[in-house]
Amino acid sequence: MENYQTETLNHFSLPKRINHLGELAYNLWWTWHPDVQRLYKRIDVDLWEKYDHNPILFLRNVERAKLNAVTTDNHYLEFYDRAMSAFDQYMTRKDTWYEKNHSHIMDEEIAYFSTEYGLHETLPFYAGGLGVLSGDHIKEASDLGLPLVAMGFFYTRGYFTQKISEDGWQEAHYVRLKFDELPVISIKDDQDNPVTISVDLPGREVLARIWKIQVGRIPLYLLDSNVDGNTSEDRELTSRLYGSDLDLRISQEIILGVGGVRALRKLGHDPSIWHMNEGHSAFLALERARELVSEGRTFEEAKAIVKGKTIFTTHTPVPAGSDEFPLWLMDKYFSQYQEKLGLEREEFIDLARHEVSWGETFSMPVLAMRMSELKNGVSEKHGKVARKMWNYLWPDRKVDEVPISHITNGVHTGTWLARRLRHLYGRYLGQDWLERIDAPEVWEGVEAIPDEELWTVRRHLKRKLVFYMRERARNQWLYEGVHPVQVVASGALLDPYALTLGFARRFATYKRADLILRDMDRLLKLVNKPNMPVQIIFAGKAHPADKPGKLLIQNVYRKVKQAENGGRLVFLEDYDMNLARYLVQGVDVWLNTPRRPNEASGTSGEKAALNGVLNFSILDGWWREGYNGQNGWAIGDETDYEDPDLQDQKDAESLYDVLENEIIPLYYQRSAGNIPTEWISRMKESIRTLAPTFCMRRMVKEYAKDMYFELMDGTV
Ligand SMILES: *Cc1c(COP(=O)(O)O)cnc(C)c1O
Repeated sequence: MENYQTETLNHFSLPKRINHLGELAYNLWWTWHPDVQRLYKRIDVDLWEKYDHNPILFLRNVERAKLNAVTTDNHYLEFYDRAMSAFDQYMTRKDTWYEKNHSHIMDEEIAYFSTEYGLHETLPFYAGGLGVLSGDHIKEASDLGLPLVAMGFFYTRGYFTQKISEDGWQEAHYVRLKFDELPVISIKDDQDNPVTISVDLPGREVLARIWKIQVGRIPLYLLDSNVDGNTSEDRELTSRLYGSDLDLRISQEIILGVGGVRALRKLGHDPSIWHMNEGHSAFLALERARELVSEGRTFEEAKAIVKGKTIFTTHTPVPAGSDEFPLWLMDKYFSQYQEKLGLEREEFIDLARHEVSWGETFSMPVLAMRMSELKNGVSEKHGKVARKMWNYLWPDRKVDEVPISHITNGVHTGTWLARRLRHLYGRYLGQDWLERIDAPEVWEGVEAIPDEELWTVRRHLKRKLVFYMRERARNQWLYEGVHPVQVVASGALLDPYALTLGFARRFATYKRADLILRDMDRLLKLVNKPNMPVQIIFAGKAHPADKPGKLLIQNVYRKVKQAENGGRLVFLEDYDMNLARYLVQGVDVWLNTPRRPNEASGTSGEKAALNGVLNFSILDGWWREGYNGQNGWAIGDETDYEDPDLQDQKDAESLYDVLENEIIPLYYQRSAGNIPTEWISRMKESIRTLAPTFCMRRMVKEYAKDMYFELMDGTV
């Protein structure tokens, strides 16, 4: 790193007394410290909202008088000094979990590769759960002090913004992101030119520059092909997430895998462990093998060395979801590269050969499986499914002996926990609870929180969600001229205190967003019951090329628009991390209805549980492990029916039964002071049992102990 300039793109002229606000804006540490966010918010709350919580735009545009005002506000300054010293301490502390327990392997670095990162709503480099998981993973690696560097893409057009037409059709809008409005740091050489790496694509060399985002203590490097020297088409190669065009996809994956290794080398990193989060980055293993072959090793030797230091996490429980390329495409892109590996064409294809109905392909997860020593799925059930699915790669082994383990996904506590709850937990879980969030005994303290206090915070979070939705609905009507029924569909008629269910995630058909709408007559009776109203909030994007996903949104939207539901069914546009935070903190019940076993893990329900929201889900992914009979509700049991329609019918019946007979009565059963005592006791059971287990801290420690350290040389 020392060789290059790393430059922020803004020099704010701030009053001296508070000038660290500029520096803070360039480290995403502030995103998981809600108190620290208020350093900006308190200067001008409207502007903070107007710029979607983007401190860079905020600082560039805030009135000087408002900045000056806080420099004489002692309360603010005290708060500022405390936050800044916490930040300094965080960045320099030597007593992290890693340093305390594993410092003997301190100088070995872990490289983490992913195509998407969900870090904050201002950085639209994620499509859904996979990205949020990667973002949470590196935040936690920072908290634990792990020596990790991360690699991904700077998508100059990001993922799309979603609008829903009056008829429920999803429209995708792309904007071009402006670097100087984002907390990205440009890496330049001493002539002030961007540092670039290059990869060979058919008939040409393509360059990519490197951006850096500082995530606490972790550097995240992002590749971007929009540079001088590339053709105008090549400049767009990394502009969008998940194009469906094959040439585009393979080019992106070459830039990430091959280019990513070159970028780390160029920046002076020499990772000893390489973690591929999903198979998109698996070409990184070939590039490391190529390096060794060029130094005189045989491919077999190189492969063994590379494999011994590589880890692969699979997230896909269905073969159809796999990332693979037809062989003619591989010939087009890799005919020269395979020579550098010392391989003949058939030997090269054999690395990842996969038979599918229409012929043979080169499969990225197969390549990843073959090139990594340790492999895992993302929940117990998914591990099992993955062992079965990939058994054919180890034909002489029984299913249980297939070398794929599992580490169940978790969520980053600081990112997803509501500020008020953080304060409340702080009062009852003991001084150092944030240091020990994965210790079950810490969470026993939840039982000591008085019901009224917990309920007061929950009511606050429910109000916050409803007011936020009304504001959005108002703006749609004011500025976008939508039809009034769309204003209602956006939540204008919601009641902050009614029982509210949330369903928000990507609209892939297997997630069955419309399962709860299967019997509308029965649902409407439940929703409109006098004195016991029920509200359901839907949100989510479909992949722009996923027609069935878009039809699913349309089907949901059409039902949401019906007058018969009294405005109690709602669809919110443009699900992102900001909306996700409002929802997982502000609803009462988190609904998830995947068709088993397709939900490899799921994480949004874990975010909800942390905030005292009760899960109501199919027993799949993480919930199959988390549910204990008292900490939420299951939909159906673990019976799998052959006929998908029968499965849907059985699951829907169970859903309505539990909702009608258990959930609704429990929520509306009130004790003195209008407190739902029984509900709160379930809520406490949920927080107590789920928060310590389904958190990123537990997860990243497992990756460290069971995977990273296993493959490090220094381990004793
Ligand atoms: C957490 C999260 C997801 C993942 O949700 P699942 O229900 O686990 O699929 C997707 N999108 C956003 C914006 C999230 O915050």
